[in-house]
Amino acid sequence: MTFLPNSIEARDIAYQMHPLVDLKNYEKTGALVIERGEGIYVFDNNGKRYIEGLAGLWSVAVGFGEKRLSDVAKAQMDKLPYYHIFSHKTHGPSVDLAEKLIQMAPVPMSKVHFTSSGSEANDLVVKMMWYRSNALGKPEKKKIIGRVKGYHGVTIAAGSITGLPRNHASFDLPLDRMRHVSCPDYAGTALPGESEIAFSRRMAGELEDLILAEGPDTVAAFFGEPVMASGGVYVPPEGYWQEIQAVLRKYEVMLVVDEVICGFGRTGEMFGCQTFGIEPDVMVLSKQISSSYLPLSAILMTEDFYGPIAEESARVGTFGHGYTASGHPVATAVGLENIRIIEERDLVGNCRRLSPLFLARLADLARHPRAKSSRGVGLIGALELKPFAEGGKAGAALQARAMEEGVIARAIGDTLCFCPPLIITAEQIETMFDAIARALDTIS
Ligand code: PLP
Repeated sequence: MTFLPNSIEARDIAYQMHPLVDLKNYEKTGALVIERGEGIYVFDNNGKRYIEGLAGLWSVAVGFGEKRLSDVAKAQMDKLPYYHIFSHKTHGPSVDLAEKLIQMAPVPMSKVHFTSSGSEANDLVVKMMWYRSNALGKPEKKKIIGRVKGYHGVTIAAGSITGLPRNHASFDLPLDRMRHVSCPDYAGTALPGESEIAFSRRMAGELEDLILAEGPDTVAAFFGEPVMASGGVYVPPEGYWQEIQAVLRKYEVMLVVDEVICGFGRTGEMFGCQTFGIEPDVMVLSKQISSSYLPLSAILMTEDFYGPIAEESARVGTFGHGYTASGHPVATAVGLENIRIIEERDLVGNCRRLSPLFLARLADLARHPRAKSSRGVGLIGALELKPFAEGGKAGAALQARAMEEGVIARAIGDTLCFCPPLIITAEQIETMFDAIARALDTIS
C-alpha cells in the first residue's frame, strides 16, 4: 500500500517500530490511524466511526472522552505533576488509591504496590516471590507455573509465564524456572463424555503431577487469569478454580491471580476472583484500573505474602526495587476517579444486566455456517470460526470485514474476541453484533 508523502501513515512507517507486527512487512499494510474517541466509539483520520468492541486493549471501561478523568488529570498536573515515592516520600493520590484498593479487595489484603503496566507488575511479583522464598530460608522454592495460552505480559519473567510460543520465539524465553500446565479449554479439549467437573479434576491432577515431579519444595507460585483473555477467551469450567486451589494449598504454592483484564467489572462482579470463588495470595490489577487513560498497575498482597518480604528488607537494609513512575500522582489520581465512575454509574451492574444479551447474540452468531461455537462471561466473549483451508486465518478475515462494517474486534487465530467498554448499552450491543453478522455473511 502507498501513502501520501508526509502523511501520518507514511511517517508512521518511516519512524515507528510497533508491537505485535511483522516488522519487515509492516509497510505493506501500514496502520489504521485513530484520531479521537467518544463513548464506545473511536474515529479514524477519515472521520469513519467504529464501535470499539475490544475497549482498546480490553481496557477502556468507562469509554472514550470521559471528561471527569481529563479534569482530574489536569488538576493533578497543575498541583503536583510528578513526585516519587522512594526513600520515605509519599503523596496523597497514591495513598488514596492504595486505601481504596485495600477496601475493595475481595479478600483481606495487607499492602498495595504500584507499577505502570501489567507486565511490570507480574514481573515484580516473580521477583518478590523469589525474595520471599529466600526470606523464608527456602532458596529452592523458586519455580513458577503458568498455563498454555495464559497471558501475563512480555517482560523477561512475565513473558516467561505467558504460555504463547509466538511470544517466546527467538527471545530465549521462557526462563528455566518457569513451567506450564494445560489451558482449561473444556469445549476444545474435554475427553468424550467428560463432565466439566471431571475435566476440572483432570486439570488439577495435571497440576499436582507437575508439582510432584518438580518437587513441591521447588515450586513457589501459580499464575492465572480468572478468565484467560488474550489467549482467546477461555472461561474456566465448573469447579476449575476450586480444584486448582485445593492442590496449591496442599503444596504451599502461592496463587497469583492476574486480574489485569477481569478486574473492575469485566466478568459481572468487581473482580474475577468473586465470579469464580478464587482466594488469591496476590492480585495483579491494571487496564480498567484507570480505563488505560494513563499507564497504571497495582499489586495487592496478603500479609502472608508481604510479611516475609518486609522481614527480608530489614535484613538486607532496603527493599531494592522501585520505578521513577511508581505510584505516579497523575496516574493514581485518574485511577481513583475512574473507580469512582465505575461505582457511581454501576458499570459492574450494567455488565451483569447486559451479559445475557451479549452472550445470546454471540451464541446466535455461532449458528452461522462459517462459525463453530461461542463462549464468554460478563462482557467478554469470543466467536470461534470454522478454520479456512489454511488454519489460523479465519479470525483475521472476519476482523478485517468487521472493520469495514464499523466494528473493531480482536482476532486470535480462528477466533474473534469481544470486550466492549462497560458503558455499552443493549442497543449498541445489537448494533455491534448485527455488523458482525453482515461481516460473517461475506468473509472468504
Ligand atoms: N496480564 C494480562 C491478563 C493481560 O491481559 C495483559 C495485557 O494484555 C498483561 C498482563 C500485560 O499488561 P501490559 O500490556 O500492560 O504489560
